[in-house]
Amino acid sequence: MKRFFGTAVFTAIAASAVHAESTQSVQAGSPRQPVIAENYMVSAANPFAVKAGVEVLSNGGTAADAAVTVQMMLNLFEPQSSGIGGGAFMLYWDASEKKLITYDGREKAPASATPEYFFGDDGTPVKWWDAVVGGRSVGVPGTLKLLETAHRQHGRQPWSELLLPAIVHADAGFEISPRLADSIASAQKRKLDLFESTRSYFFNDDGSPKTAGTYLKNPQFASALRDIAANGSAPFYTGAIAESIVKAVKTEINPGELTLEDMASYEVIEREPVCFPYRSYEVCGMGPPTSGGLTMGQMLTMLEQHDLPGMGPGAEAWHLYIEAAKLAYADRGLYMADSDFVDMPEGLLDKGYLAERASLIDPQNAMEKATAGIPPQQSAMRFSPDTQLERAGTSHFSIVDQYGDMISMTTTIETGFGSRVMSNGFLLNNELTDFSRTPEKDGLPIANRVEGNKRPRSSMSPTIVFKDNAPVLVIGSPGGSRIINYVTKSVIAILDWDMDPQTAIDMPHVVNRNGNTDLEENTSATELEPALTALGHQVKVRGLTSGLHAIVIDNGKLIGAADSRREGIAAGH
Ligand code: GLU
Repeated sequence: MKRFFGTAVFTAIAASAVHAESTQSVQAGSPRQPVIAENYMVSAANPFAVKAGVEVLSNGGTAADAAVTVQMMLNLFEPQSSGIGGGAFMLYWDASEKKLITYDGREKAPASATPEYFFGDDGTPVKWWDAVVGGRSVGVPGTLKLLETAHRQHGRQPWSELLLPAIVHADAGFEISPRLADSIASAQKRKLDLFESTRSYFFNDDGSPKTAGTYLKNPQFASALRDIAANGSAPFYTGAIAESIVKAVKTEINPGELTLEDMASYEVIEREPVCFPYRSYEVCGMGPPTSGGLTMGQMLTMLEQHDLPGMGPGAEAWHLYIEAAKLAYADRGLYMADSDFVDMPEGLLDKGYLAERASLIDPQNAMEKATAGIPPQQSAMRFSPDTQLERAGTSHFSIVDQYGDMISMTTTIETGFGSRVMSNGFLLNNELTDFSRTPEKDGLPIANRVEGNKRPRSSMSPTIVFKDNAPVLVIGSPGGSRIINYVTKSVIAILDWDMDPQTAIDMPHVVNRNGNTDLEENTSATELEPALTALGHQVKVRGLTSGLHAIVIDNGKLIGAADSRREGIAAGH
């Protein structure tokens, strides 16, 4: 069988690919071609952000430089998904040191938060949406400090210049995209127009949502960025911006507890990457507080025993995939949380343990809901499972620079439009609702319960795949707790099924989070329904809006792809 990472296949891709500089249509749903470049590339969810990032790279900037510009532009153009009011995880491949660094810029809970943080007056946890809206769900944002840290360590261009594109566009205004317009209209039902500052930005005076093509200016954001351009993250964490965030979270409904001390004490943490072998590759992801790297590691290690390359993407392979997902998500629910607060078992990626787990998979029959296993050195169940599922409102970008440095960064304000609270022209996250609002069950604590200064468990899965110690794939996606499925499936499609990254990303989704199997509506995935149902799967057909952005590195060529379910592009030179 032909292998993707080889010249023969590359030639085939080259025939259908577009040159990196050609303009692609950017409407969600429109087909994309893989994009080829030789020196550098950005793949992200918004074309203006991508172009600004490519400009930085063309001026000799590094991946860290471009990430600053891309993130600030996404904050402006795709405000519902990510920004400096939120948190992020970044994988940084330092080519000269041959070292993979991971940065944890996840939000943290206020120091005063207790496990009953989301309890209502009746002494029980409030409903998810009731917890989202207002200042209470806001964690200390980490994205800005993450960018500053990465830039200090790996940047070449002056910080202040990297913020300029977003400042210029915030002052001059930009057109609301069709996707942003749809998001505003649908979030109106979810109280997006409740708070004045958010209402006046996204809605007309008569209360109607602003529509696609409407010009939006954001002088407040421009002014905050000017301050940050001149003074770094200091005003945000200890100065005027910190003060206005702390004030903004004191909403009438659901007031938050964030203090100036919480803001000032925020730290970005460099963590060990989670790396594991998969066939002839090494896959590296982010460790706790995200469950992404470990859950992907469990799924791929269980699947490695099967000949997925020989099977191809049919019902036989999807059955195995679904069963592996159920088993891995069961462990995720029980054990995974912020490891600085929770004593997580060390053997979650132990080969012997996962071989035992994989032996529970019956090729002919779907299991019901999986229960968590007992990894090595874990004598008994010390936790109760968490059923909390994160919602979709996030962005992912992948960057390769001319020096060979690479970034995989997933960045979020949690649900679309976060807490609905705006400060200084940017939205504040609702990341604290990624904690379990229920602290214990059956007398056992839930690992992902709220605690002061703790970081909520995430599903974000920024990933870099290596072959012979060199990176061959940079990838990640938004999508709440489905992220792990989106990224794992795309990695399998590229590594095992020889797909170019665009075909792999666009391949219809099959998702399982230890419950129903979701098949992507209006796609050929629905044709799997009879075969999967016959094996005993509970199938549900639904929209599955991933936002995968990937770059493959193959024999010195960069092959970029952007998820056609959103508005992004890949571009480079
Ligand atoms: N808050 C979620 C997480 O950290 C991400 C939400 C999303 O992808 O939309 O896993």
